[in-house]
Amino acid sequence: MIGFELSAEQKQWQQAARDFADKEIRPVAWKLDKGSDEACFWPLMERMSKKGFLAMGVPKEYGGSGLDFMTMSAVVEELAVADGGMAFTATSNSFLPLMVAGTDEQKRTFLPLTSSREKPGLAAFALTEPHAGSDGASITTTATKDGREYVLDGEKCFISNGNIARIYTVLATVDRGKGLKGITAFLVPDHLDGLERGRVEDKLGFRSSHTGTVVFHSVRVPEGNRLGAEGDGFPIAMKVLEVMRIVSCGAVGVGIARAAYESALRFLLTYSNAKKLINQQALSFDLADMLASIEASRLLVWKSCWMLDNKIPAATMSSITKFYVSDMAVEVANKGLNLVGLYGVNEDYPMDKYVRDAKVLQIYEGTNQISRLVASRGILSC
Ligand SMILES: Cc1cc2nc3c(=O)[nH]c(=O)nc-3n(C[C@H](O)[C@H](O)[C@H](O)COP(=O)(O)OP(=O)(O)OC[C@H]3O[C@@H](n4cnc5c(N)ncnc54)[C@H](O)[C@@H]3O)c2cc1C
Repeated sequence: MIGFELSAEQKQWQQAARDFADKEIRPVAWKLDKGSDEACFWPLMERMSKKGFLAMGVPKEYGGSGLDFMTMSAVVEELAVADGGMAFTATSNSFLPLMVAGTDEQKRTFLPLTSSREKPGLAAFALTEPHAGSDGASITTTATKDGREYVLDGEKCFISNGNIARIYTVLATVDRGKGLKGITAFLVPDHLDGLERGRVEDKLGFRSSHTGTVVFHSVRVPEGNRLGAEGDGFPIAMKVLEVMRIVSCGAVGVGIARAAYESALRFLLTYSNAKKLINQQALSFDLADMLASIEASRLLVWKSCWMLDNKIPAATMSSITKFYVSDMAVEVANKGLNLVGLYGVNEDYPMDKYVRDAKVLQIYEGTNQISRLVASRGILSC
């Protein structure tokens, strides 16, 4: 039986997220967009953590909220209506690599670093390098075995939370000659000697989410911090991206598009000149198209979440969700900006922010070209 009604508990989470987004995130979203503001960012993180929005996917036994992906996507959409970057920061903190491949001991040791409600830390997932973006197989960060430790050397760039994380999942190669089969994942706490936080990106969109470089100068990582076996790193990364493309990109994209649609509607219903125009079909048809796109995209996100929650392989669906929803978010935000006109470039109707945030969705978690590549390979291998 198919149903679209959220359970009572899911509705509670959704409402809590909507209230939090309205009261806590929306009032500071424009300020955070203007530049990283530590005085504003960390207190907001603490309040998000207290509400259970920072470790949503972490089971309760490890201090998280224990949400399934369906509930998580409902929460994330609401947070993203207020600010895409903050919603993304929340999703990236469910410490997916550890959830995918960690041992119980690793989970007990490392999850409290990010799931503490009193003093939350952030997690980072470090795959991309200056010369290795889409092609993960060409990473050059090395992990050299030395007794019971690995020595990490290399540089990662454009890492979300890269300059502020308490714990990193780092993808490095134990043997470049093995290509993908040499890539291995390591849990690297920020206090280890030789870990240097580098340049912070001043970027187009998602400006409330920190993005930066992190450099490893002979960082000695205990063998017990290796996730899975040597060579398991790439499958772990792909599983993490499978989830992120649905929740961090899909649900966030629906939220950003909704923000643009709701702002456009508010503008057309309240601004006196616009009120005269609202019955023009050129404008009202755009509104209808925007809402249709949002509703269709949410169905994709929910179906993909249902697959994740039911442990159905979702690599193809997650890639389809990623490129479809992010393209939709860009289109809807652009339509919103066109509808609102000059009022769409300031805090009242921040359409330019929605356009910029939506654009980032097309690039991260694997570009939309790569998502189409993954999806088409999935289709053709059937
Ligand atoms: C805001 C933000 C946050 C990010 N956060 C993280 C993070 O937390 N962790 C992390 O590891 N990375 C992160 N990234 C990096 C992101 O995942 C990469 O930007 C992405 O993988 C693309 O890599 P690239 O930019 O180097 O593009 P490139 O790989 O250099 O590609 C350039 C262009 O060529 C296209 N292209 C490449 N190969 C193919 C192909 N085979 N077929 C068709 N087209 C192709 C691409 O689609 C793209 O358009 C983040 C990026 C951004 C913008």
